Amino acid sequence: MEGSTAVGTQYVYDFSEGSADMRELLGGKGANVAEMTRILGAERVPAGFTITTEACVQYMRDGAEPDGLDAQVDQALARLEERAGKRLGDPDDPLLVSVRSGARESMPGMLDTVLNLGLNNDSVRGLARATGNERFAWDSYRRFVQMFGNVVRGVPGERIEEEIAGLKARRGVELDTDLRVEDLRELVTTFGSLYREQTGEDFPQEPREQLRQAIRAVFDSWNGERAVQYRRLNRIPDEWGTAVNVQQMVFGNKGETSGSGVAFSRDEVTGAAEPSGDFLVNAQGEDVVSGVRNTQELAELARVMPDAHAELLEILRTLERHYGDMQDTEFTIEDGRLYLLQTRSAKRPAQAAVRFAVDAVEEGLLDKAQAVATIDAASLEALLHPTFDPDVDYKVLSKGVAASPGAAKGEIVFRAGDAVAAAEEGREVIDIDLAEGTLRVGDTVLHAGDRIAINGTTGDVTVDEVPLIDPEMTEQFRTVLRWSDDLRRLGVRTNADTPGDARRARDFGAEGIGLCRTEHMFMAADRQPKMRAMIMAGTEEERRAALNKLLPHQQEDFEGLFEAMEGLPVTIRLLDPPLHEFLPHHHEVKQEVERARIEQADDLPELERTLERVSQLAETNPMLGTRGARLGILYPEIFEMQVVAVVRAARAVRERTGQAPHVEIMVPLIDYEQELEFLRGRIVAAAAREGAREGEDFTVGTMIELPRACFVADRIARHADFFSFGTNDLTQTALGFSRDDIEGKILAKYIDRRILDRSPFETIDRPGVGWLVRLAAWVGREARPDLKLGICGEHGGDPDSIQFFSDAGLDYVSCSPYRVPVARVAAAQAAIRAE
Ligand code: ADP
Ligand code: MG
Ligand code: MG
Repeated sequence: MEGSTAVGTQYVYDFSEGSADMRELLGGKGANVAEMTRILGAERVPAGFTITTEACVQYMRDGAEPDGLDAQVDQALARLEERAGKRLGDPDDPLLVSVRSGARESMPGMLDTVLNLGLNNDSVRGLARATGNERFAWDSYRRFVQMFGNVVRGVPGERIEEEIAGLKARRGVELDTDLRVEDLRELVTTFGSLYREQTGEDFPQEPREQLRQAIRAVFDSWNGERAVQYRRLNRIPDEWGTAVNVQQMVFGNKGETSGSGVAFSRDEVTGAAEPSGDFLVNAQGEDVVSGVRNTQELAELARVMPDAHAELLEILRTLERHYGDMQDTEFTIEDGRLYLLQTRSAKRPAQAAVRFAVDAVEEGLLDKAQAVATIDAASLEALLHPTFDPDVDYKVLSKGVAASPGAAKGEIVFRAGDAVAAAEEGREVIDIDLAEGTLRVGDTVLHAGDRIAINGTTGDVTVDEVPLIDPEMTEQFRTVLRWSDDLRRLGVRTNADTPGDARRARDFGAEGIGLCRTEHMFMAADRQPKMRAMIMAGTEEERRAALNKLLPHQQEDFEGLFEAMEGLPVTIRLLDPPLHEFLPHHHEVKQEVERARIEQADDLPELERTLERVSQLAETNPMLGTRGARLGILYPEIFEMQVVAVVRAARAVRERTGQAPHVEIMVPLIDYEQELEFLRGRIVAAAAREGAREGEDFTVGTMIELPRACFVADRIARHADFFSFGTNDLTQTALGFSRDDIEGKILAKYIDRRILDRSPFETIDRPGVGWLVRLAAWVGREARPDLKLGICGEHGGDPDSIQFFSDAGLDYVSCSPYRVPVARVAAAQAAIRAE
């Protein structure tokens, strides 16, 4: 085969040998340049060759170029020279090349491209003669000396810029293009001295040596600080390595009939069918991105170089058809001739992704499944959150991390309790929860109660009252969601505790509530005292009396939810958190008691009783203490009150609306099948006393959130109509990770050390927690084939996890309202991939 040596590995591939599916070996850039060579023809894509990622991996391992690489590069170069009819370093008419890095996925921190390699003090004259354009030749040479020095050997960019700016000032000109041949010559000499200063060597005159150094620099850049950091952040393995592309130069800087630019096959912001992009006349590619000159809109090219423009549009259509996706390309025009230098799938904001998908189907470019597959599901959430009104200016107080799409504003509150209280009063709140009572940003001191607004999309924080606008779900977005619904197998529900959340989620397409956390209903200010009275009760009778006061509230809450869901399934989880969460802190009560003692206050006995109860209920490890099913077994009357409230609410709603709610009662934190057996008995009996029948008016199931429950899922399934995997707690208990303690400190370190790629609380830990889910699904269904299976942890909104749950055979995922559309699309993509 061309390009292979007598023995050993092929490290070098001509563009004509490669293709898009060789991405791993040739890198994204190399594979796509090869693919373009196939489909557009060799006249449109400058020839060249790719040094494989494998060569880079070997280089990193051995600290030296692999055996045979040098010889293979020589051979590839000879073939390139043959094809081009020019030789590297030829003093009459030299071949010039670019050296371009390109990993499997494009990433920052890799070596910048070196253009015009092959020029030296002799060949620059040859280039001038051959082209009859002395200015062009010297401009190319000074660019090369500048780029090579900076990129390959670390000559500081500021020094280079200083020299250029100084010269322009001395000549009294503004633009690089105003510099004359003598000026460019002078710059070459200056950059040569800078190079010597920096490296202690003369600028390499031998082109093959220039190439050797540039290739090595690309390899080395794989382990550069920025590249390493980026890979950590984006979970890209160090073992990939980067490829190196060596490509014959084409010149956009030959004068007014030359230029270069970038072009998207559709509008890069909106996704509309008109191509967009930027270009510059008389410029090489790096001028367009570096921003040294103001670019022109792609549409202008139609006026400046109409033929090239028409050809480009035709090529964009061809590429899009070929790849079945919106493309992002680089082009250069040399003396009116158009060349393509790069193509890849366009990164695009959510609205453009949606628009492209819908248009592509209408145009017959893709079928619905293919179109849905082009969307980055996670990005869609950005289309749903309220955002800062884009027409309003605001003063940025500080900048945080651009953490989540959308925006929020409200009063500063320093304690969670105050936040709940304020929210109850209908005030908007931002909860910062600090021990300090003030927040300081530069000279600005903010107090509790001051209003701030946060733009989650940019990380901006402001004290200005910026109006928020509710996004509209476009017709196209609805279309994509409708197609997704046709394609997916997995159901999508929402986690919602209030009618408002429930309605919002339904607007977003939720097919039910997968988790209603009833404890949230007792946090409200008017209910906390009643809840406290219930907890403080010394006897069962007292407790029942207190529960009776809570009952109407609970019933009212459920009625609201049932009404909002109009007959769709609603899974109600019985009380889960430890009771002390509803009581004041031990140390606070203790202080109160001391004060009351000193003052001989009337409330002393009451306070002492509270202190005693608080001490009784205190636990060393509440997360693993008196919660969920355990609470229900200690105080069955709590669960019974909730069941009565559920049954009465369901009946009231049925009578009022004529539609029977679909109720699923869920017991949290089951370990032993006997726990569920016992509690199910109490639940069914309590409901029966209210005239409700199990199976008809409601079903009973359980959360699966402890490893034991997964192992004995078959036994538990005998008492459960459904399982809902509580993957938050299952992750905590399976890994022995206390989320609150570990998330900030330890997980960051783990990701840094590459023990982990992503937090297991963000995406399901497939081999560990995921295996428990699979096991429980499997043995649970073995015992009970009609067992309904869902998942209600935060993972229910994560596209990667959704793929896993779909493959594991679950019936539905349940996620926060804003994630519902994300989940619908991700579930469709999971189904598409499974085919
Ligand atoms: P990046 O990944 O930073 O875009 P590229 O390798 O794509 O780096 O190149 C940087 C610029 O140089 C681009 O504008 C590209 O089109 C241009 N370029 C690269 N190789 C050549 C070449 N052989 N001839 C002309 N321009 C080139
Ligand atoms: Mg590029
Ligand atoms: Mg839980």
